[in-house]
Amino acid sequence: METAIKTHGLTVSYGVNMALWNVSTQIPAQQISAIIGPNGAGKSTLLKAILGMVPTLSGEIEVTGAGGTAAKQHQFLASQIGYVPQRNSVDWDFPITVLDLVLMGTYGRLKWFQRPGEKERADAYAALTEVQMQEFAGRQIGQLSGGQQQRVFLARAFVQQASIYLLDEPFAGVDATTEKMIVDILHGLRDAGKTVSLVHHDLTTVSRYFDHVILLNKQLVASGPTRSTFTSEHIQATYGVHGMQIGGFSEDATDA
Ligand code: ADP
Ligand code: MG
Repeated sequence: METAIKTHGLTVSYGVNMALWNVSTQIPAQQISAIIGPNGAGKSTLLKAILGMVPTLSGEIEVTGAGGTAAKQHQFLASQIGYVPQRNSVDWDFPITVLDLVLMGTYGRLKWFQRPGEKERADAYAALTEVQMQEFAGRQIGQLSGGQQQRVFLARAFVQQASIYLLDEPFAGVDATTEKMIVDILHGLRDAGKTVSLVHHDLTTVSRYFDHVILLNKQLVASGPTRSTFTSEHIQATYGVHGMQIGGFSEDATDA
């Protein structure tokens, strides 16, 4: 198994609040993996640390192919990682249309003095078509349903031609049809050789959706192939007994 991203002893804190403690794990290349854990477990923080959006207190993050100087690394992360943020972390009142948001995905391949042109617009439309959102190109992003918003961010990651996709709870507030559509797209990306990793909440779909799981609760609980790692013992260690309900998994999927 090849590794796309590796963390070693990663520790992140917000002031005195420790969000991640000594996390050594990896995101396998060309697989679809889930990052799982209770609210406040540091799942979003893990993605943000990988993207360089939050400072780390200690430890290392290695993104395969992103060697060299800090500037080179930054460029690599910006161009190769498509990020779909957690929906409640986005300012949906920001006055930007669907098309313009998707066009932002092309900035990485433009020189600093270039603006997106016809080619970029055509690519953005093609990406919107892939997620069946082309009709909404002119709409303000605030005027979309949850599932539509997720699809637009996915389209932005597509035009970026990223090799790694990191998604933060893409199914939160999304109806079953859209979830199915997004899952199919993500499996298609994996089958095309991309690396896909997402923060995921619904324990009942983990075995069906994912090749690999990372169980996290500030510290790493377990990480590995779904079949051998997604065990009730590991789930209990991640959520504590109170997070589990007898006869099924907790439906407490509201991650505010
Ligand atoms: P998760 O995504 O697993 O729910 P987060 O990574 O969002 O968890 O948060 C981990 C911990 O860090 C939580 O206790 C959260 O309150 C805290 N936290 C997250 N972001 C910030 C921030 N910007 N400032 C202060 N504390 C934060
Ligand atoms: Mg989160």
